[in-house]
Amino acid sequence: MILPGSTLGILGGGQLGRMFTAAARTLGYHVIVLDPDPHSPAAHFADRHIVADFSDQHALEAFGKECAAISTEFENAPAQSLRFLAQFCTVRPGAEAVAISQNRISEKQFFTTHGFPCARYAVIQSRDDIAPAIHQIGLPAIIKRSQLGYDGKGQARVNTTDEALRAFDDMGAVPCVLEELVPLQLEISVILARGADAQTAVFPVAENQHCNGILDVTLAPARIPDNLAEQARHIATQLAERLDYCGVLAVEFFVVAGGRLLINEIAPRPHNSGHYTLNACMTDQFEQQVRTLCGLPLGDARLLSSAVMVNLLGDLWDASVPPLQKIGEHVLTCPQAKLHLYGKREARPGRKMGHYTVMDAKIEHALALALDIKSTL
Ligand code: ATP
Ligand code: MG
Repeated sequence: MILPGSTLGILGGGQLGRMFTAAARTLGYHVIVLDPDPHSPAAHFADRHIVADFSDQHALEAFGKECAAISTEFENAPAQSLRFLAQFCTVRPGAEAVAISQNRISEKQFFTTHGFPCARYAVIQSRDDIAPAIHQIGLPAIIKRSQLGYDGKGQARVNTTDEALRAFDDMGAVPCVLEELVPLQLEISVILARGADAQTAVFPVAENQHCNGILDVTLAPARIPDNLAEQARHIATQLAERLDYCGVLAVEFFVVAGGRLLINEIAPRPHNSGHYTLNACMTDQFEQQVRTLCGLPLGDARLLSSAVMVNLLGDLWDASVPPLQKIGEHVLTCPQAKLHLYGKREARPGRKMGHYTVMDAKIEHALALALDIKSTL
């Protein structure tokens, strides 16, 4: 067990790193953040900020030697860097699980090899693979770059072979997957924490609504039948087992016709769709990340109140009005709403600047209140 008073490290200083840092410091740990951005949101809360690239070996060595344990807040931190850090301290999740999830090709191969359901796909390494891929998958389809995509970036819907060729070129002719366009009934996610001793705590299933490929609203619990929720939690637990996973894992699912589940993707970290846990669960996903990292017993993941989370994107930051005035007024005046802002200096369209969560005993009331606030923004 790594006890409070020790120093923990977080690779990546975005909002997820910030919330990890807050949880770790609440439990009495010191935190060092490594991130190249001198104004990274996590650095505000950390004891120390190493401003360096994620693959800077000198910086990583110093970081690894100063920390008792290190976790990551995004899957695009090179798995190579995690492997390197593991020479010096505990690293959770391990590089292998992160490597699988940071590449859509290896991720999908992992799903199919182990019998986990996912959408049909074909691998595209070069232009020549496009016509056979379309022949196999059909149209319309989605082409996604295998690495470094997020928030719907790095993917395009395609209706013709020409569109697929153009999309492939636009993405820089890097390896991609062509995925069947599935008729979505609903999107859900399961987040769980799994300790080194295989003890697992699964959060309730969340229901996710996206807008322009970016998560917009999350409802917890998801409005789905109990048996479907159980099935999703079971698949996520099995996935974590197969990965021999230690840490917080997020599994995104599509629900298609007939209540069938397909895994969309996994994230080896806390997830935007789990932000509601900060206010609505007995233990939140970031505290679980600290607990799994340090080998502490897991907290209870139970939901204390139905909750609806709404993301606040940079689009709302209007130069003509002091941006926080509008948000402050409309969110803070609702006594059932909790506001979280990430302290980012610069707002850009589509950039996640904060979120709020509305709680009520009845999910439909929480949703109505949350959407009321959203419409005033
Ligand atoms: P994020 O980082 O937000 O998870 P991402 O860039 O990794 O997003 P995906 O999760 O693959 O991308 O896709 C984003 C959204 O696009 C999905 O949540 C879903 O709404 C839609 N989408 C992706 N793949 C498919 C598909 N095969 N069929 C239908 N819709 C899809
Ligand atoms: Mg996704």
